[in-house]
Amino acid sequence: MGLMLHHPALSTADLPWLHVFEAGFAHLGETFATPTEPTPLPAAYWVGCNDALREALGLPSDLWEQLEAMALFTGNLPLRDHPSYASVYSGHQFGQWAGQLGDGRALNLGALQTPIGLQELQLKGAGPTPFSRRGDGRAVLRSSIREFLASEAMHGLGIPTTRALCVTGSPAHVRREDIETAAVVTRVAPSFVRFGHFEHFSSNGQIDALRILADHVVTAHFPALQHKKGSERYVDLLHEVTQRTAVLMAQWQAVGFCHGVMNTDNMSVLGLTLDYGPYQYLDGFDANHICNHSDHQGRYAYARQPQIAYWNLFCLGQALMPLIDEQAPALAALEGYKQAFPAAMDQGMRHKLGLQGTHHGDRALVEDLLQAMQQDRVDYTVFWRRLSLAVRESANSTHAFAPVRDLFMHREVFDAWCKRYLERLGSSHRQAAGDAMLRTNPKYILRNHLGELAIRQAKQGNFAMVQELLHVLHAPFDEHPTHEAWAGLAPEWASSIEISCSS
Ligand code: AMP
Ligand code: MG
Repeated sequence: MGLMLHHPALSTADLPWLHVFEAGFAHLGETFATPTEPTPLPAAYWVGCNDALREALGLPSDLWEQLEAMALFTGNLPLRDHPSYASVYSGHQFGQWAGQLGDGRALNLGALQTPIGLQELQLKGAGPTPFSRRGDGRAVLRSSIREFLASEAMHGLGIPTTRALCVTGSPAHVRREDIETAAVVTRVAPSFVRFGHFEHFSSNGQIDALRILADHVVTAHFPALQHKKGSERYVDLLHEVTQRTAVLMAQWQAVGFCHGVMNTDNMSVLGLTLDYGPYQYLDGFDANHICNHSDHQGRYAYARQPQIAYWNLFCLGQALMPLIDEQAPALAALEGYKQAFPAAMDQGMRHKLGLQGTHHGDRALVEDLLQAMQQDRVDYTVFWRRLSLAVRESANSTHAFAPVRDLFMHREVFDAWCKRYLERLGSSHRQAAGDAMLRTNPKYILRNHLGELAIRQAKQGNFAMVQELLHVLHAPFDEHPTHEAWAGLAPEWASSIEISCSS
């Protein structure tokens, strides 16, 4: 807490790298951004520092040595000339209208002009806000490490996501099922605007505010639509968000990512993966996998995600209707999902299989493969990686597919599928196809048990595994010989890890 005595509040002039600070979303005013000071945490320490993102943002190389930076990112140094704020939103949770929610534990610092464009900075867990309802405004160390690693794993995989710059921790107690300790994640994104922001102003009949929000999103994030006038602009916005969401869902499905809480308040208008809570990357393939132990109905099961995203897009469309003259074009924009998702999904799976061109039998090939994997709960990531290697080796070896075959209990099912696959793949260019597959099918994913091991060590004050995982997950298609074990099958105990909304 010593720092606070020296710097009761900081001016952006005191931190040279904050000179480029701008209001960003906050320039919309207090209807959208409620000034809220962070609540300090005692004895802050670094948990995770993302040096690759620091560099991409053009922040100084000694950032992690600056006590002011640690204090700022923990919420211990309010910026005098840039009040932090929380934003109001509403949303549908588990299919029900939940009314007003808002940033209950996220505080936005403002936007930084960076080499990768204007980026909003947000502290998650920096204390209560006017929207905390009964929550404490805090995040625990465990869930903060999970968010930090998952955001960056997604980025490494090339899947749109909010980023995470750092995590700081504090010995301050936070009550969940057990007593845990507090942490703050500094998140970075061009925008944190959610479907729920639109639902909020629309449901309250604040149509002027709804229009201001939509115009801001168009101007700042969909500049190609700026010249569109009136109703057409908002229909096109809906179309764009629909298309981006369809692509995102295909990417989640292809990599085996299960979000866990796809409420409309967790859906990004930019089509970014947002709000990492009880997520899971699949181990053994199970289309019906439910990663969130609080999701008793399985609403957000892995295979249901694309359909849920479509449902959520209808909530966004509904919210935009006061700005749109006729229903038909809005419905047409939403309908676009029915082509965009399957097209992106087919393309994604063709890439995973190393297939060139399109063939009418491709979808059946994929469906039959997934059915075989489902039957034997074949490890999703290991399968694709071994298949990629096998395709590459098969140019010279007739036994190349044995390691893939070994993953199946029903060998005859795999053999029959593999025969069809190889016919479709063709016999030439196997090496090139395999190489491309190795750049599509990651060797490393953030399996639950890897995050769990990093968390256990961090709780003992050892953050080496957090940093090492970050490094490996930033390059998940590469070989990391010293971390071969992290590419292996999940251990027996992994299935007993329980992940819920409590974070
Ligand atoms: P989530 O399901 O984590 O996306 O959270 C849903 C809503 O609850 C959001 O409005 C969050 O800001 C809020 N929330 C979650 N946890 C807390 C907390 N510990 N304190 C205050 N608000 C919270
Ligand atoms: Mg949320």
